[in-house]
Amino acid sequence: MEDCSGRRKTRRIQIGRIPIGGGAPVVVQSMTNTETKDVRRTINQIKRLAKAGCEVVRVSVRDRKDAEALFRLKEKSPVPLIADIHFDYRLALVAIEQGVEGIRINPGNLPSSRIRDIVAAAMERGTVIRVGVNAGSLEKELWHKYGGPTAEALVESALNHVKRIEDMGWTQMKISVKSSHVPTMIEAYRRLADSTDYPLHLGVTEAGSLINAAVKSAIGMGVLLYESIGDTIRVSVTGDPVSEIPIAFSILRALGIRMVGPEIISCPTCGRCEINVPALVKKVEKRLEGIKENIKVAIMGCVVNGPGEAREADVGIAGGKGMGLLFKKGTVVEKLKEEEIVERLVKEVWTMINKTEANE
Ligand code: SF4
Repeated sequence: MEDCSGRRKTRRIQIGRIPIGGGAPVVVQSMTNTETKDVRRTINQIKRLAKAGCEVVRVSVRDRKDAEALFRLKEKSPVPLIADIHFDYRLALVAIEQGVEGIRINPGNLPSSRIRDIVAAAMERGTVIRVGVNAGSLEKELWHKYGGPTAEALVESALNHVKRIEDMGWTQMKISVKSSHVPTMIEAYRRLADSTDYPLHLGVTEAGSLINAAVKSAIGMGVLLYESIGDTIRVSVTGDPVSEIPIAFSILRALGIRMVGPEIISCPTCGRCEINVPALVKKVEKRLEGIKENIKVAIMGCVVNGPGEAREADVGIAGGKGMGLLFKKGTVVEKLKEEEIVERLVKEVWTMINKTEANE
């Protein structure tokens, strides 16, 4: 059901049970936006993310209470957790002690003399470190040297930090060089990919609300993934992080990298349309949420072109006056009343899933 081939060769790291790099499927991540110390709300959001298909979740650690909540979160979380830490190295030490699978640091905003303490603790517990450099927190010297947060500056910063951690003996690392400027982000990751074989975590920062985030991420990450750069991705959306997950999987699916979850193919509608395609799409999408199997479902507005246009769909509907024609692989098999359409499509999808499972 899942395809992962021809990726750039990177070394393999392991975030808990999730492998990253070294030929593993590109991993989809997200980040909670609750207060981490509010364990009930945070674990609810982590579970919603996991249900949507998110495989690794990052949580922000702003103070000691956040850090001390990590053990309880970890106990209840269905996916590995990454603690996001800035400025206070002691929070990194507490987070590692609490047993999180990874920490994300930007060594540029931590006291240089304390990086060794963090690395020693990570080595002892086997904690993965993401060196996450971004434009907003570039070191002053590099800012002056390059005249701003250019791609070269981000890459130099990241590689310097990686080299220091490597010299301390730890190689369970991944790297990100995010920027909100898509061309800079693309160039930075390309340069990074030419210089290192550590797994790369792709992302466009401050990407904005849903449409902007989807477009910027699809372009930025899409270009890189197409060039086989990137081992794990995070789409950043202002708002509910759960909305990031379908975007991430759509990007991977569009490139044929990972085919996870049902794909709804729907026509744009035109003057021939005879059923309410947008409403049907919304209902069917909702009903198929959380399914991981790769099944193509078509919802087409008319019988003239519908089945033909969606020939590659496993199952689909082509609208007629007050009814829909059910078709499979482009061939019409039954006529349904309009009110039967959603239930029937969902039933057909489950029948296919059950058949596949029985054959495995
Ligand atoms: Fe128009 Fe029919 Fe094509 Fe939809 S399937 S765009 S309604 S011709």
